[in-house]
Amino acid sequence: MDEILSEMLSEKGQKLIILRNFKFSFHKKLAGDVERWKCVKRLCKAFIKLENGVLVEDQANHVGHAAEAEGSLLRQKISNTLKRRATECISERPAKIIRQEISKCSDGPSVTANDMDRFRKNLSAAKLRTFPKLPKSMPDLHTKFGGFQSSGHTKTSTGEDVTADN
Ligand SMILES: [Zn+2]
Repeated sequence: MDEILSEMLSEKGQKLIILRNFKFSFHKKLAGDVERWKCVKRLCKAFIKLENGVLVEDQANHVGHAAEAEGSLLRQKISNTLKRRATECISERPAKIIRQEISKCSDGPSVTANDMDRFRKNLSAAKLRTFPKLPKSMPDLHTKFGGFQSSGHTKTSTGEDVTADN
């Protein structure tokens, strides 16, 4: 079999195998260095077997779902790689990481400005999660400002609704 297998990371940073735009996650190791990978869709019974990274069995009869669209798969691929990289090289600027990852993809030009925005947001979120917890004094600060921000209107010191005069 000369099927082309590729790899990507899941949203949680786990390795996935891509075969004909279907995603497979590692299931279990079998005898003789054979690995069983199953379709990421929970109710789908499709699976493949790899021996030393080579496809040896293909039971990829997917039920109840279609393959990922090429563009969507590419965006997931870049986005998830970025998340992983953001947690590894915390000091690098997001724009630099995004450029590096896109330049690795042969399909780079199909990434739109919207995609870039989303990548950047994902990346910032991933970075935030890796920072140590805020010092204890921060929640107090947050409570003070939190009350202020959550009121929909701007109140004067006497409690009158400023917008009522307009
Ligand atoms: Zn499937």
